Amino acid sequence: MPLKSLTINGFKSFADKTKIDFTSGITGIVGPNGSGKSNITEAIRWVMGEQSAKSLRGDKMADIIFAGSDTRSQMNHAEVVLEFDNSKKELKTDQENISIKRKLYRNGDTEFSINNKECRLKDITELFMDSGMGKQSFSIISQGRVEEIFNSKPIQRRSIIEESAGIALFKQKKIQAENKLSETTDNLHRVSDIVSELA
Ligand code: ATP
Repeated sequence: MPLKSLTINGFKSFADKTKIDFTSGITGIVGPNGSGKSNITEAIRWVMGEQSAKSLRGDKMADIIFAGSDTRSQMNHAEVVLEFDNSKKELKTDQENISIKRKLYRNGDTEFSINNKECRLKDITELFMDSGMGKQSFSIISQGRVEEIFNSKPIQRRSIIEESAGIALFKQKKIQAENKLSETTDNLHRVSDIVSELA
């Protein structure tokens, strides 16, 4: 599924609002060491729902907010917007253009939206689940990730295969349904206790 553009504002080294348009074909990003190339792929993973500060090379999530430099003071929030072309309906939604946004403030407040409509992180994760994209998919291979996959435990490798095979979403829905079933069973027991007390 083609990416259309990435807009970064206040994310890591990107203090100024920066928009990268991905035109058809291959886009290469080149630059000297430490100029922010990896920060761009991290911005993509972050907006798609990455929740591990460590995997974004930080200690805490607020470390992704521009921390200031000799000439500029730190920023109070980071914002990333990623736009996709969904004309081939690879994501399970009728919309042809999808734009997802994530914003994080230093005080920990966070906002997510899909096509400018506020949503939960879960909605973004589910949108990409089984699409072959998503924060941990093979569409983004960071430095060291290949070794990490080779060295992973069988159970972790299995979850990678399940995501690629398109069954991860159903597994998650099964867990949610089982939790609901268990809550309902508890409620039924409670009702039956009340009925026998009243009898
Ligand atoms: P290499 O080619 O060596 O892999 P790169 O081009 O991929 O480098 P990155 O690792 O993306 O570079 O960027 C590292 C830079 O980002 C460092 O200069 C670091 O100081 C800066 N940086 C990281 N987090 C922040 C932050 N929160 N605020 C400001 N700058 C940051």
